[in-house]
Amino acid sequence: MSQPEQQSFLTHLECSLCGEKYDPDRLWNLCPRCGKPLLARYNLTKAKASLSPDDLVKREPTLWRYGELLPVRQKSYRLSLGEGYTPLHRAFRLEHEIGHSPIFIKDEGLNPTGSFKARGLSVAVSRAYELGARALSIPSAGNAAGAMSAYAALAGLEAHVFMPADVPRPFINECRVLGAQVTLVDGLITDCARLAREGIEKYGRFDLSTLKEPYRLEGKKTMGYELAEQLDWSLPEVIIYPTGGGTGLVGMWKAFNELEELGWIGSKRPLMVSVQSEGCAPIVRAFQEGTEFAEPWANARTIADGLRVPSAVGDFLILRAIRESQGTAVAVSDTEIMESTYLLGKTTGIWPAPEGGATLAALLRLLKDRWIKEGDSVVLFNTGNGAKYSRLWD
Ligand SMILES: *Cc1c(COP(=O)(O)O)cnc(C)c1O
Repeated sequence: MSQPEQQSFLTHLECSLCGEKYDPDRLWNLCPRCGKPLLARYNLTKAKASLSPDDLVKREPTLWRYGELLPVRQKSYRLSLGEGYTPLHRAFRLEHEIGHSPIFIKDEGLNPTGSFKARGLSVAVSRAYELGARALSIPSAGNAAGAMSAYAALAGLEAHVFMPADVPRPFINECRVLGAQVTLVDGLITDCARLAREGIEKYGRFDLSTLKEPYRLEGKKTMGYELAEQLDWSLPEVIIYPTGGGTGLVGMWKAFNELEELGWIGSKRPLMVSVQSEGCAPIVRAFQEGTEFAEPWANARTIADGLRVPSAVGDFLILRAIRESQGTAVAVSDTEIMESTYLLGKTTGIWPAPEGGATLAALLRLLKDRWIKEGDSVVLFNTGNGAKYSRLWD
């Protein structure tokens, strides 16, 4: 039975670049007019009148607690394995070790399949399922493939995943156990995308690439909702986020604007910091050069697989969010990433993904440069669980 008070307030899709509007109740990928990402829009005036933070208190501890502000219309299509509502830890020992406080860690490694990709794919697969997709396709550096495989298995949909041949073994094993068709590709995620396109065109598989459909972003925006809820409807001064395709950063930025329209937070925003690896830093370079879009990065190389994204379709949205927030973009070396991953582990008890370690490396850099001021509250996103990155720890 659908509960009327938890129905989605989704009204339409809107192109992030040209502004064209689209019917939200059919499947879309990029804007047919300009080829840029579509964004989900809601009737927030109506949502504001019927929903308040108090209504959330008794709801399930998953991202579906924000169901009115997510795109799935019927509850029976919500595919849930317990995604979202991850802990926000105060990192006291880390604070003591590096001489800055307060520092919080949002531990996304506790999501189903071990990364925050579960958020985006729980919502996107649910919505594709609701709108009639039968077979799904994704190019992935590892974590997105596992997450898509899991939700496809839950729904009984076909899953086709394309991963670089050099991803650590556990990522491949996971997809196979979850029933996906795995194709290994000699190359990077961009090469995987090229190969996936064939099956999309030939067999009508639905493409769930980052920002190439509108709803992974909706899943990931719940990190912003949660952060506000966990900080009692306030936001930190600084958010440091490891950026590949950028869905998380763009999603949180969207969430903060929606929360302000709902009247749940004020106009104050965190400084959004994007961290990338020196071996693949297209967003950092574009930020520094002041351009609207990012040039593709040649010879992308880094141990942090989730950051090995040489070209992001949402580049201008990432750059916009960083600039609007007065934030910055930082490139750190793989050596700094590894050192920070161990430092994070031994001071917090969390086994982080290297992408999570990268956020601490950026924090250390920004403290050294005095870009972050004494007393600024900082949230680091540990976006994944370190356990699957098998080779790194040998
Ligand atoms: C995908 C991924 C990232 C990058 O996330 P985006 O939102 O696409 O920028 C960071 N960390 C991990 C562990 C990932 O799997």
